[in-house]
Amino acid sequence: MLLLAKNTLAEGVPAPTNGAALAHRVAALNTRYRHHAATDVMAGALRNVGQVALVSSFGAESVVLLHMLALIDRAAPVLFVDTGMLFTETLVYQTEVAERLGLTGVRILRATDTNQRDPDGTLHNTDPDACCALRKTAPLQKALAGFDGWITGRKRFQAGTRAALDFFEVEPGTGRIKINPLAHWAPEDVRSYMDENRLPRHPLVARGFPSIGCAPCTTPIAPGEDPRAGRWRGAPKQECGIHFLNGRAMRQGDDT
Ligand code: SF4
Repeated sequence: MLLLAKNTLAEGVPAPTNGAALAHRVAALNTRYRHHAATDVMAGALRNVGQVALVSSFGAESVVLLHMLALIDRAAPVLFVDTGMLFTETLVYQTEVAERLGLTGVRILRATDTNQRDPDGTLHNTDPDACCALRKTAPLQKALAGFDGWITGRKRFQAGTRAALDFFEVEPGTGRIKINPLAHWAPEDVRSYMDENRLPRHPLVARGFPSIGCAPCTTPIAPGEDPRAGRWRGAPKQECGIHFLNGRAMRQGDDT
């Protein structure tokens, strides 16, 4: 309740005092922003939801939300999880994009116990779920504890389970609101936005990586393959578990 109590009263949308009130507030936000553009949704979230962070992987499509955020508030928090296993290209791209867009609120998150739990850096070979939980989910969950909401890059077209994805969602069990400004975007919308705004692309996209995760777990894809076919190739694992349900990681994509 303490977390929710600091939410601001804005634009006639009352701050929630319990789960039902939070759901009511989210419904009101969805009604209010139903016909608005992605930038309006993001700006509305920053005004109405309290402390909000953009969670970004600085991956293949991340620059769209990063650019929108820079237009609204360059000092807004951006959470970037450095798993210690990322491509060098991602680390360089992260620095370059943040500098070019003038983003001053980027926070780099790292797990603090990898030396104890994955001393030789091979956990991804034997237990990728545990590796993702250690290197991605735990640091992010810890960082998000201080926020009322977080912005994601999830989109309706990405999976059947996201067909009804709305701009604002209650994150069950955490008291947070998830904001999905690109919920209604198609792949061509993403490409058009990057072209029209002349945004820098992640260098690995041109080398056959339409979805970019950690170096040991990402390969390029062949023409015609699903864009995520290069993630954990050959393993049953498909998702990183960076979204949460009842305070625990869920098996969902890390398209941030
Ligand atoms: S993507 Fe691979 S290396 Fe990265 S955290 Fe998950 S299992 Fe570990």
